[in-house]
Amino acid sequence: MRPQILFPLFAPIRGLRGVGPRIEPLVERAAGPLVRDLVFLAPHGVIHRATRVAAEALEGETARFVLTIGRHVPPERSGRPYVVRAYDATGEIDLVWFKGHGAHLAASHPPGSHRAVSGRVDRHRGGLSLAHPEYMLPADRLSDIPETEAVYPTTAGLAPRTVRRLVHEALLRAPDLEEWQDPAWIGRMGWMSWRQALAALHAPADAQDLSPRHPARLRLAYDELLAHQLAMVRRKARARRAPARSIASSALAAAVEKSLPFALTTAQARTLTEVRGDLASGARMSRIIQGDVGSGKTVVAMLAMADVAAAGRQSALMAPTEILARQHYETLVGPLERAGLAVATLTGRDKGRARAAKLEAIGRGEVQVVVGTHALFQDGVSFSDLTLAVVDEQHRFGVFERGRLQGKGEAVHLLALSATPIPRTLELTLFGDLDVSKLDEKPPGRLPATTTAAPFRRLDHVVERLSAAVKNGAQAFWICPLVAESETLDVTAAETRAEHLRGVLGPRVGLVHGQMSAAEKDHAMAAFVDGQTDVLVATTVVEVGVDVPRASIIVIEHAERFGLAQLHQLRGRVGRGGGASACLLLYDPPLTTAAQARLDVLRRTDDGFLIAEKDLELRGGGDLLGAKQSGFPDYRFADPLAHRDLLLAAADDARLALARDPGLNDLRGRRLRILQALFDWRADEDWAAAG
Ligand code: ADP
Ligand code: MG
Repeated sequence: MRPQILFPLFAPIRGLRGVGPRIEPLVERAAGPLVRDLVFLAPHGVIHRATRVAAEALEGETARFVLTIGRHVPPERSGRPYVVRAYDATGEIDLVWFKGHGAHLAASHPPGSHRAVSGRVDRHRGGLSLAHPEYMLPADRLSDIPETEAVYPTTAGLAPRTVRRLVHEALLRAPDLEEWQDPAWIGRMGWMSWRQALAALHAPADAQDLSPRHPARLRLAYDELLAHQLAMVRRKARARRAPARSIASSALAAAVEKSLPFALTTAQARTLTEVRGDLASGARMSRIIQGDVGSGKTVVAMLAMADVAAAGRQSALMAPTEILARQHYETLVGPLERAGLAVATLTGRDKGRARAAKLEAIGRGEVQVVVGTHALFQDGVSFSDLTLAVVDEQHRFGVFERGRLQGKGEAVHLLALSATPIPRTLELTLFGDLDVSKLDEKPPGRLPATTTAAPFRRLDHVVERLSAAVKNGAQAFWICPLVAESETLDVTAAETRAEHLRGVLGPRVGLVHGQMSAAEKDHAMAAFVDGQTDVLVATTVVEVGVDVPRASIIVIEHAERFGLAQLHQLRGRVGRGGGASACLLLYDPPLTTAAQARLDVLRRTDDGFLIAEKDLELRGGGDLLGAKQSGFPDYRFADPLAHRDLLLAAADDARLALARDPGLNDLRGRRLRILQALFDWRADEDWAAAG
């Protein structure tokens, strides 16, 4: 329940003066639906208005003037501006409006009147002008035009001044709240109160006040991080308290492990021990295994599923696509069936009677391990005793979808798998509610791909070498540029490249891109996996986890446009067959320093965790790994790079506060609950959704 003191902040923006039906959707787009969202809208710029006389006006500067209004010059034809001539003792300035202002201007600013005016100075046919002056006040009110003012991110159709006014009004509704931070910590950091920090946030005097390291922004970022960490730690604690079936490690799993043609790596063995500890604990497991593609996550999950089967219970492994589900099935089915277990797949492809038969076998518990896609959690699918849910590439599923799968049983253990290594500090923000295991070691015998970079003008040479390799039986991915603004352009580029390559290599060139249907994509991928095509031209839709053992070459066009983590993931698609492999980064010179640094890191190392750290350093947290795709929280104030130190402190703070006062009931606890409600991290709802 939301504390009453926060009601004014959680009121809809339409309650603010001047927010009518026209403005409302615009404000909502710029800030959000609530008064709080305006209060939390951080300015990204600051305007200074010097007071000038006309002769001193500087082009490009925003300034204040006291002017006498002269002649009005209405537009001669439509499309021309309405111009009001104005002057002072030193010179002339034209005031210019581009749309429909005529009558009202003539009435309110008659010739001879004196006005305090501000705006951005332009030079236009030799003369000075102010287009759409921000302020036109009686001359004696010059001081009412603020000397400095915050600039907010806005949206088309919404005047900067309107946003400013609404933020100001929203700020008046922000209540004084009792300090939730530890007073000693606040003192040591030299921070102001929450309310003062908000006031300072909205009253920047210069560019330094906009820095993420400004004390007001640090304070607000810390509040936000603490609220988030509290939510995560509470969720994790609740999961730990939830009783779940205890599953012991089994002779069956030992037999499966023994039947494998390889020994587990040290990292796999350690991870398996961690997973088994959770399964045996009597509390519900919430664990994620992080490891590069090919580091052996699925094998660890398989042995955990064998333990569950030995206890007479069921497991489900859910993958984001059909083709990944099929590959998992192929990894699992041999070892598990040899041990006497039944393994089934369930995907959108299953229809009619075949599907009904599968559902029945799953419902009766005749199948111990089910591998599938979203189809697994649909209504109508019921398990006899689902006990372990394994979710591959978990960031591709929402909390809700994960929850629906877990909802297919009682207190279902969760094991998530992720091939997207992330830096340690970010673990806290992304997986603060999960325990993390890392597979930071590759199975022996894998050769890292040889990585080289070449300028685009070497294209013909590259194609020639590709052609020779293909004649020798190699398969290759060809990744086409990512043009962020337009998916259609991506597609055209990929189509053009596929045509070009077919011209040189013949017809065995496939194409897969984001505008194809799921079935078309699957079809193109499958043809490549089965070796019916030699080269697969793709936009970045290529599945991260897909295993194509014969694919030993990947060419990445416009490599300079990709982030480091993304390049690493793309590269991970080759070299699964054990032989030598190559990654060629084609770039368009000249490279920026940052792009050069990215390509260098990639040439030097194959360690996903190291690369993730470098990625964070080089790019800032902003668009790390495609922030959205990886489920990165939508922070308002906190920046995972600029505020790394605060993140660690907030995680400790949250842990200690909850250790001392698990229900958040003491004095600080009650205030912390208000903090959490303020940022609305939905600890309780999330948990309910997760079953
Ligand atoms: P991930 O799920 O992390 O991509 P998988 O578990 O699918 O990795 O393993 C990738 C490939 O490596 C599979 O073919 C698997 O049989 C093999 N593999 C897994 N663990 C080992 C190991 N310890 N030694 C050798 N090969 C392994
Ligand atoms: Mg995998």
